[in-house]
Amino acid sequence: MKKIKKIEIDTSKCTGCRTCELVCSAFHYEPKYSLVNPTRSRIRVFFDEENDLYVPVIAGPYVEAECDGRKAYTIKGEKYDECCFCPVSCPSRDLFKEPDSGLPLKCDMCGEPPPPEGPLCVAWCLDDALTYVEREEEEEEEEEEKADEKESAIEYLIKKYGLEEIRDILDRKSKL
Ligand code: SF4
Ligand code: SF4
Ligand code: SF4
Repeated sequence: MKKIKKIEIDTSKCTGCRTCELVCSAFHYEPKYSLVNPTRSRIRVFFDEENDLYVPVIAGPYVEAECDGRKAYTIKGEKYDECCFCPVSCPSRDLFKEPDSGLPLKCDMCGEPPPPEGPLCVAWCLDDALTYVEREEEEEEEEEEKADEKESAIEYLIKKYGLEEIRDILDRKSKL
């Protein structure tokens, strides 16, 4: 069994106070709590005050290339680009990058072991927009998920280039 840790976000409860950004950035500064700077936070809150929309986004992994299939979201009649709510650090924007070095920032659940009060953004979100959740997951499920991922990737390539071309490439590679 593997322990899965995640933070669930209830956007309807987020007031846009940004306490989560402040506490995350302060906790991760060296020495701890010696600087507060939201641009160094691993959680950022997307703001659209006019439409009363606040969406906390937690930093995920770095990707080497920006995606090319950007979706558009319509919320309360307003259109938003996928980048607004995207958790990854990618070359096309500076969100979730360390401002001085440009190094990607990723949520580490406040380290291992975490502080006694748990992930700090959750502990300090007094409006309960963030909830820390732990659950056990079978290792097998993870293996199955990986297998599914691989299958989907192969299906995608076949759809894009055709079975014959993919087969030719595999034949060539297997002779290397
Ligand atoms: S602390 Fe909570 S309510 Fe405040 S901005 Fe962050 S998620 Fe929203
Ligand atoms: S930030 Fe935008 S371009 Fe980059 S991966 Fe996310 S959605 Fe794609
Ligand atoms: S869990 Fe910790 S590291 Fe992750 S966003 Fe919240 S405060 Fe930052």
